[in-house]
Amino acid sequence: MAQLIDGKALSIQVLQQVASDVELLKVESGIVPTLAVVLVGEDPASQVYVRNKMKRAREVGIGSREHRLDADITQNELELLIDALNNDADVHGILVQLPLPAHFNEDAVIASIHPDKDVDGFHPLNVGALAAGRDTLVPCTPQGCMIMLNQIHPDLSGKHAVVIGRSNIVGKPMAMLLLQANCTVTIVHSHTQDIESLCRNADIVIAAVGRRELVDADWIKPGATVIDVGINAIEIDGKRKLIGDVAFEAVAGVAGAITPVPGGVGPMTIACLLLNTTRAVKRQLPRSTVMQFGVEVENS
Ligand code: NAD
Repeated sequence: MAQLIDGKALSIQVLQQVASDVELLKVESGIVPTLAVVLVGEDPASQVYVRNKMKRAREVGIGSREHRLDADITQNELELLIDALNNDADVHGILVQLPLPAHFNEDAVIASIHPDKDVDGFHPLNVGALAAGRDTLVPCTPQGCMIMLNQIHPDLSGKHAVVIGRSNIVGKPMAMLLLQANCTVTIVHSHTQDIESLCRNADIVIAAVGRRELVDADWIKPGATVIDVGINAIEIDGKRKLIGDVAFEAVAGVAGAITPVPGGVGPMTIACLLLNTTRAVKRQLPRSTVMQFGVEVENS
C-alpha cells in the first residue's frame, strides 16, 4: 500500500514557517504583511475559497483585506481598485479570485496587478521569469506539489514526471518547476494519444485535469509517486463529496506514494499563498532593509 502524503500535516509545517517569518518582519521592520483579496460576484465556490484564505491568513498573523464587488462592475472599475492596491504601501499581496464573471478580460486584470504583489504568480512577467528559471513568485498549487514531492524525493534529478493537464494555473507552471528540479518532463493533455502508456513510464504522475478518477491503477508504474490536484464535487446519497482525478483506492495499491483528496494538494495551495505573501513583502523591501534579514532580493 502506498505511503500517504499528508498535505494537511505538511501545510501546518509551512504555515508555522510563514508565522515565524511574519513575526520576524513585524519585529525587525514594523511591517505587517498584508494580503488584499478581491472577489467579484457571488460564486459560491469562490466565496468558500476566499473565506478559507482569509481565515488562514489571520491565523498566521498576515493582515487581510477583503474587497467584495458586485458582479456587474466594469473592467475599468476593477482595474482602478487594483491600481489603488498596487499603490498602497500597506498592501503587499493582491489576489483576484478567479474565475471572474464572463464580461471581464481576465488576462488584462491579471496583467494589471503589480508583479511584485502578484501572490498567485499569474502575471506574464512572473510566468516568463519562471520559464527562464529565475527566482520569482510561483503559482501556489504547483509550488505546494513540489513541497510534497520533495518529501518523497529529496533529489528529483533524472526522474521522469508526467503532468496531465496544461493549464496556466497548474499544468504549465508545474512542468516548469519539475524541469528546474532536473526532471525529464512530459506534458499530456486532452489531445494527447495513449496517455496511459506515457504515464506507465513515469516515476511521478501529477494529475491536474478535473475529470473524476481518470487515472486508474493500470496507468501507474509500481512504486511511482502520484500527486492528485483534481477537485471534483459529486453527490452521494444527497451528500456533497470531493474526489480527485485519481482512482485513489486502486492506485494506492500500486503507487509508492500518493496524495489524498481532500487533504492533499488543497491545504498546501493555501499555505503557499501565504508563503508567497511573505515573499512578496521581501521583494518590496529596499535592499538596506533586506540585508537586516540576510534575505536575498532581486528587485533593488
Ligand atoms: P483546466 O480546466 O484549466 O485544465 C484542465 C487540463 O486538463 C487542460 O489542459 C486539458 O487539456 C486537460 N484535459 C482535459 N481532459 C483531459 C483528458 N481526458 N485527458 C488528459 N488531459 C485532459 O483546469 P485546472 O485549472 O488546471 O485544474 C485542474 C483540476 O485541478 C481541477 O479539478 C481543479 O479544480 C483542480 N485544482 C485544484 C487546486 C487545489 O488547490 N487542489 C488548485 C487548482 C486547480
